[in-house]
Amino acid sequence: MPLFDAHNHFQDDWFDPHRERLLDELPRLGLGGMVVNGTCESDWPKVRELGRRVPWIVPSFGLHPWDCGNRSPAWEETLSAALLETPGAAVGEIGIDRWILDRARPDDPRLAGMRRAPLDEQLQVFVRQLDLACRMKRPASIHCLDAWGPLIECLRRTPLPQRGFLLHAYGGPAEMVVDFAALGAYFSFNGNYLEERRVRNREAFRQVPAERLLVETDAPAMLLPAPWRHFELPSAPTGENINHPGNLLGAYEGIAHLRGAASEELAETCETNFRRLFLGQ
Ligand SMILES: [Zn+2]
Repeated sequence: MPLFDAHNHFQDDWFDPHRERLLDELPRLGLGGMVVNGTCESDWPKVRELGRRVPWIVPSFGLHPWDCGNRSPAWEETLSAALLETPGAAVGEIGIDRWILDRARPDDPRLAGMRRAPLDEQLQVFVRQLDLACRMKRPASIHCLDAWGPLIECLRRTPLPQRGFLLHAYGGPAEMVVDFAALGAYFSFNGNYLEERRVRNREAFRQVPAERLLVETDAPAMLLPAPWRHFELPSAPTGENINHPGNLLGAYEGIAHLRGAASEELAETCETNFRRLFLGQ
């Protein structure tokens, strides 16, 4: 039964030394497809190139809320052009993030050199991209940290993509699952939620309706805890860990265990959901 990664960043420079080997290895590890999310204008060409040459990659173009503050005046035109040229592409990673404004350390290396756009500005850029997804009939992948209230308010007053949208690594309250689902949301379970302390995140995923469930790695980010991690890659030049995209398997095992579902049945459900949302099948 093939596995489908609903959200990763396979274009990331950290994969440069490993990418060709992984492209060869991943289908043998059972990977049937993955959505590769661009996050800023400078990585869209790399995502487009991957989508062109690898039939099982779904390319996705978007301006991530962390990158929103550094966008160029031409960002929207460039994004439109990338989507028009790539009819099978999705919109994402887009979204809003209050964590970078309120909780992130001023010297967090992942945010170095970024202008942290205020929430209003993030919301404007987010809505422009949702609008693009609607007009071009593409699904959208949404990132949200510490801003679940503003997100649902925004989604309630904005036209939404007909095929639906993904709340990637859903980290909102369990009680909001039903409200987001009513708006057309899918929810992808990240293997990192198998960390002991992530009780609240696991609880929310018990509430997700089966027909809206997906699984993701967010690789190279979001490493899984040791017992669920099957594959390792050497650390990045900065010393940080790189999540091997094959660890999708551990995330599938974890969510099956969590929901008391048979793994075959869960894989079949997630494949159907992935095809419906991202491939329009
Ligand atoms: Zn991501």
